[in-house]
Amino acid sequence: LIDIKNISKSFDDNLVLDDLNLYIRENEFLTLLGPSGCGKTTLLRILGGFEKPDQGRILFQGKDITDLAPNKRQLNTVFQKYALFTHMTIAENIAFGLKIKKKSKSYIQDKIRYALKLVNLDGFENRYPDSLSGGQQQRIAIARAIVNEPKVLLLDEPLGALDLKLRQDMQYELIRLKNELGITFIYVTHDQEEALTMSDTIVVMNQGYIQQIGTPEDIYNEPQNAFVADFIGESN
Ligand code: ATP
Repeated sequence: LIDIKNISKSFDDNLVLDDLNLYIRENEFLTLLGPSGCGKTTLLRILGGFEKPDQGRILFQGKDITDLAPNKRQLNTVFQKYALFTHMTIAENIAFGLKIKKKSKSYIQDKIRYALKLVNLDGFENRYPDSLSGGQQQRIAIARAIVNEPKVLLLDEPLGALDLKLRQDMQYELIRLKNELGITFIYVTHDQEEALTMSDTIVVMNQGYIQQIGTPEDIYNEPQNAFVADFIGESN
């Protein structure tokens, strides 16, 4: 579905991604896993169109999207900070992108109801973000992304701010959403356990390089080098 070809990116003289190549299959849950500063977020931002690579191309269904603006891609990003508009109700937050696209009122109403049901927050239309828990706000951020019917959801440590119980609930919900919607998930985390639990494919990164690509079983049972073995073996 997505072909990442020879992507390099530096900030000043700090080489963050070094000639990176990766193929992402349709409908997989792919996790970018690695320590802080290894370039995961930068790669996700390049995929979402929020950052330009110095070199390399991104192909989506064979089409070069490297220079397309974020809203022209069929990839939707959910950031760690939920970035909900605090002065708008939940319904208005979810409707925001659809209004820009000039969708009809009844279409938007149907989508809001559908998305809230998907994330188990029926009836929250008229609440304001401040009155919601962190987990609920994160669900709304996901609902807002889903109504745009993206082919791909990019998630940057979406559960990082949540406590353990909520994290586990949300992990389960994200997997359910992926299965129900048939969306491809690209998920950034530095948490090995989360990666091992949720992923179809794990990409272990360190210092701008891919160290290993494999299923959770491959990565756990057959780490290809000392870095992967150490990183997977560490507990948080
Ligand atoms: P974390 O888990 O801490 O978010 P990460 O693996 O996502 O880490 P990145 O955020 O991609 O890592 O950052 C990789 C490197 O690039 C870091 O050294 C960071 O300081 C640097 N970097 C990222 N964005 C910028 C920027 N806009 N300007 C300068 N340096 C940047």
